[in-house]
Amino acid sequence: MKKRKLFGCLLLIIAMISMISMLTACENAEPAQSPKPAESAKPTENVQQTEVPKISFKAGTYTANVYGYLSNLNVETTFSDTEITSIKVTEQKETPELFALVEAQVPAQIIENQSLAVDTVTGATISSMALVNAVTDCAEQAGGDVKALRANKIEKKPGADEEYTTDVVVVGLGASGYMAAHNAAIEGSKVMAIEKGAALAVSNGLKVSGPFAIDTPVLQEKNSKLTVDKAFYHMMDYSHWSVNATLVRRCLETSKLAVTQLMDMGYQFKEADFRFETPFKGEYGGFHLILNPLSERVSIWEKTLKEDNVDVMFNTTGKKLIMDGDKVVGVEAQKKDGTKVTIHADSVILATGGFIGNKQMIAENFSGVTINAAGGSLSTGDGINMAVEAGAVLDKTFGICGSEYGGTNTKATRSAKQDKYDQNTAFKFGVYGGLYVDAQGSRFMNEGLMVDYPMSFGSESIIRNSPYYAIVDQTYVDAMKTQGLYLYTKEKGAPDNWTIGNYYKEKILTNLDADLEEGIAQGWVYKADTIQELGKFFGIEDLQATVDAYNKCCEDGVDAQFGKEAMYLSEIKDGPFYIVQNQFSGWSTIGGVRVDESLRALNDGNKAIPGLYVVGSDAGSLFCTPYYDIPGSFYGLAIDSGTIAGKEAAAYSKIK
Ligand SMILES: Cc1cc2nc3c(=O)[nH]c(=O)nc-3n(C[C@H](O)[C@H](O)[C@H](O)COP(=O)(O)OP(=O)(O)OC[C@H]3O[C@@H](n4cnc5c(N)ncnc54)[C@H](O)[C@@H]3O)c2cc1C
Repeated sequence: MKKRKLFGCLLLIIAMISMISMLTACENAEPAQSPKPAESAKPTENVQQTEVPKISFKAGTYTANVYGYLSNLNVETTFSDTEITSIKVTEQKETPELFALVEAQVPAQIIENQSLAVDTVTGATISSMALVNAVTDCAEQAGGDVKALRANKIEKKPGADEEYTTDVVVVGLGASGYMAAHNAAIEGSKVMAIEKGAALAVSNGLKVSGPFAIDTPVLQEKNSKLTVDKAFYHMMDYSHWSVNATLVRRCLETSKLAVTQLMDMGYQFKEADFRFETPFKGEYGGFHLILNPLSERVSIWEKTLKEDNVDVMFNTTGKKLIMDGDKVVGVEAQKKDGTKVTIHADSVILATGGFIGNKQMIAENFSGVTINAAGGSLSTGDGINMAVEAGAVLDKTFGICGSEYGGTNTKATRSAKQDKYDQNTAFKFGVYGGLYVDAQGSRFMNEGLMVDYPMSFGSESIIRNSPYYAIVDQTYVDAMKTQGLYLYTKEKGAPDNWTIGNYYKEKILTNLDADLEEGIAQGWVYKADTIQELGKFFGIEDLQATVDAYNKCCEDGVDAQFGKEAMYLSEIKDGPFYIVQNQFSGWSTIGGVRVDESLRALNDGNKAIPGLYVVGSDAGSLFCTPYYDIPGSFYGLAIDSGTIAGKEAAAYSKIK
């Protein structure tokens, strides 16, 4: 009787495991249309069977709590005497569209392979790892051999080589790549797109607040006075004509079409004044705030790509351009399991989003300073490097489109993010922290620029000094957690039309005490009774002299060194004192391949390389440094450039 019961249980477990696997396979199905191999490849088993380790556990259900990307993950793991049998996430507030993939893939892999060395979801690595860490914690509580679970590596075996032929292939399905694919398709091209991430929701192009654009239906309804000329000449003055002027003008002229196309697909926009100082606001405003939630944007992209018959391959990384003499005639790519993919095409559009996720390229271009990715870090310079390997040259400007939300630190679990997300509020001192010093304890900038112009002049001053240190005293901390920046600065003479101040009006740092304590525990904040002691924690010897000089400016009400406005001058005199180590972070890199007004990559003789287009952050001739002081210009120029390149590539196919 007992034996029969045991056999029944075993059958039930086997049935459940196969159901989970089937379910996972269905949920992993790519949302957009999947391509069929030109030469039909036989289905292959890409994951090598491994021997399941014999590990004993104290049977039962255990709970662990681990911080993910945006929230705490509460995870319940159930063990039999010998196996992990179930993993349930009972609480989390991660990005739903991405966490759905994590939940569908990670627990199933752990259970199926009895392994903690599982694959993460590309584009949701932090959430995936948090889930693995929570299960690890539970396994430890159950007395399991965690080392053995980690050592049980799942070997991947590449599938048979795949080969395709198309008119246009887009590498990277973000802001610019999506528009390029759409425009090539509506001009009659057969289009394929490959994307490194696991799903559309990974793309930065879907997470943006909005683009800068001119003469759109949204602005026409407002009788806006903004013209292409006005924006263009401002951008030329600002950049000192260091960008490709013909291309920038063409992009601005195309911005109406790009936004109108998005509206036709289902995007809803509202013209909105941005929260910090910008040259274009009120009757000249050009920032288009996107009103659709992320889930709706994902659906819009899925529907459009399907209607356009764009074949999309996720988890597929572009590796190398295929050349025929000096012409680009396709791209070689690799799937996550190592399968080789060859795509022959009339032209390739590179749209891989720059190199904010490539530590080595960041170090090379910014001389060893620390710059973290504020958003997705799948952009590792692949597009730029592929183009250079194919004979393209780089344009001359390199910079960062910096985050306006505050500092980050690799030691922290809750670095600054968009304000709608959970984060450690002590990082707000990375944008309004009183006195900033560099690693030697010297003041290096007008800190007010970071408050009012955080993405342009503020960021530019900080790039070469990251990590930078914010020094505040207890009086300032108390004011920020009770009054907030707005009221505190108002009392010091801030004007009524203080743009960023009005944004911070309701944003009082009520959790600051706990957040500072968290920073101290994690090693990126230090608290001391004297300034001397404060600096020593981060190896800064002569902080006292800098603070004394700064306090003198505050006392005089005049910043003789950098001209910071009097309303931002607050003495640092009431201990305890705090030092916050901020590492600079960016949404994207600026700088890449030199392109002409059709987004064609140029070689060292300034001749276009036939069949090669480079758009968005990969294109080096669109952006200047500092980043334009026009909010939305990054996403705006990305979609404009994608729109132009898509049409150009389709036209090239027709004449070929
Ligand atoms: C969270 C966030 C919010 C932002 N909000 C704004 C905003 O409101 N306004 C604004 O102007 N700018 C904003 N930006 C700046 C932003 O970088 C650009 O607006 C825009 O996304 C850049 O477009 P892109 O096409 O160059 O790159 P992305 O949109 O980043 O797309 C690049 C894509 O290429 C993929 N990829 C990388 N390497 C490969 C490879 N080898 N093979 C295949 N695929 C690859 C990546 O996974 C990614 O999906 C934001 C950035 C982030 C991260």
